[in-house]
Amino acid sequence: MIWRKSAKPGRYESVDGGTIKLGDAQASLTFRHHARARRMILRTDPKTGGAVVTLPPGTDYETARQFAQEREGWLLARLERTPKVVEFTDGASVPYLGTPHLICHKPDMRGTVVREHEILFISGRPEHLARRLRDWMKSEARREITQRAAAKAATLGKRHARITIRDTRSRWGSCSHSGSLNFSWRLIMAPDWVLDYVVAHEVAHLAELNHSPRFWAQVAQLSDDVERACDWLKRHGTKLHQYG
Ligand SMILES: [Zn+2]
Repeated sequence: MIWRKSAKPGRYESVDGGTIKLGDAQASLTFRHHARARRMILRTDPKTGGAVVTLPPGTDYETARQFAQEREGWLLARLERTPKVVEFTDGASVPYLGTPHLICHKPDMRGTVVREHEILFISGRPEHLARRLRDWMKSEARREITQRAAAKAATLGKRHARITIRDTRSRWGSCSHSGSLNFSWRLIMAPDWVLDYVVAHEVAHLAELNHSPRFWAQVAQLSDDVERACDWLKRHGTKLHQYG
């Protein structure tokens, strides 16, 4: 057990409580002593993907552990909604077109990022690794999306204006009245057919600036997995925001 003393000893301190079982995995458990807490309070820690129990004075650890373990389902549901943050660091795993890739820092490598057999090798100084990888992901997203958008627009006999790649929280893509298309760079982490659907959706707006049956007929013409992709985005879309 590791003790971390707070500025005001005795009032507020965190204790490493080991791990608890969450689904098929073990997750970290932290106890927080709180001099003024009246009851046990359970929450999740998105940084660790574990559980934190706030303890009123006099609570023993076994009771607190049981309190957390009995609420396993609640913790899992909560963590599902606020997924663990995955930093772009050496040794972390990030998806690229839906396939997990290991981040491998290779300081002296030529070039910036090289993708090889589900490994992303990144050169340069460690403090630049996250930015380099994000920049690379953005350029990969631009490349994939631009190719697909051009081909799909041609299918509809339409032309799109500028394509912008952004870090949007609320939408995966959008299409303006002037025909410019915006996409989230995070789509490059989604499976191929999900990215393809989002491009199809926005390109179809070049023909129909609405969500009418006619619009959806255009989307179906441009993408094979419309329903499956919508479902994937609903279920897993927020997870794409946990990376980097
Ligand atoms: Zn739309």
